[in-house]
Amino acid sequence: MTTRTQIYREVLREYEQLRAQEEADLRERKETLYQMVPRLRQIEQELSLTGVESAKAVLLDPAQAQEHLLALQEKGKVLHAERNTLLQSVGASEQMLKPYYRCNQCKDTGYVDQEMCACMKKRIMERLYDQSNVKELVKTENFNTFRFDYYSDQRREGQELSPRENMQQNYKKALDFTRQIEEGASLLLWGPTGLGKTFLCNAIAKEVLEQGKVVLYFTSGQLCRLFEAYRFGAKDEDVPKEDPMEDLLDADLLIIDDLGTEFSTVLTASELFRVINERALRKKSVVLSTNLGADKLVNQYSDRFLSRVRGTYEVMAFYGEDIRIRKKYEK
Ligand SMILES: [Zn+2]
Repeated sequence: MTTRTQIYREVLREYEQLRAQEEADLRERKETLYQMVPRLRQIEQELSLTGVESAKAVLLDPAQAQEHLLALQEKGKVLHAERNTLLQSVGASEQMLKPYYRCNQCKDTGYVDQEMCACMKKRIMERLYDQSNVKELVKTENFNTFRFDYYSDQRREGQELSPRENMQQNYKKALDFTRQIEEGASLLLWGPTGLGKTFLCNAIAKEVLEQGKVVLYFTSGQLCRLFEAYRFGAKDEDVPKEDPMEDLLDADLLIIDDLGTEFSTVLTASELFRVINERALRKKSVVLSTNLGADKLVNQYSDRFLSRVRGTYEVMAFYGEDIRIRKKYEK
């Protein structure tokens, strides 16, 4: 896991390495060609000399500068023509004497006129996605693919809204939420499984990632394993080398899906509280999803956990029939 600044630095370094590689490739290409046709090396030297001479001409003899420059231009043309003929004779082209850039806009510097190039923005975005844990799912589960018709439009007794109307409201709340990350808003998605909580978590993740923000997505099971692996150093490849806590506290948005389904221990419950509490203090956004009722949350975690969530989170209720069954029949 990494912060946005680290990602930015790493991407800048990638670009530097890329340019160094491209320059090395160019030198190699030139060397091969110059071995085949030694005259090409001389031409390059003569061409760079004409450049120096042009500058000199203007400085030393301004009165005659125009005349000198024209002569030098003519010389340049002749040299270029000779070079082209030589290159063609060995099946090469002038293009081979220039660096091959992956992006011609920024020439692989990442910047155009001090503005970040689109290619670099894209690369940073890829890195943000890579570390968020959501890469694959958001392709199919996002705000654009949400289906309200999976939810019943029949209101049951005691319900103020039909499940569909309720989901429309949740959808809007979730979308609004993605625009309040900087203010540190937090959400609790609450209700039985199979009603689209995870789907909405993914939709939120994608929307916030697209803003260029750091999002970390975990099921509560993954998160607890992370805590334990770090603390007890299980012999596992997933063991984080550095304390994951700082990243968990620092990400712009932390999503913990399916709270309560994990096997929690005293350690994981207290680490989880630390994350929730500390993020609330730092005014950092969290999305929690759970199907546990209030009493069970208190049981599994603690009442201070619940009161922290109650005090800071907007609650979004999910109800209706399990939509996974309807989805399955449609496939
Ligand atoms: Zn570029």
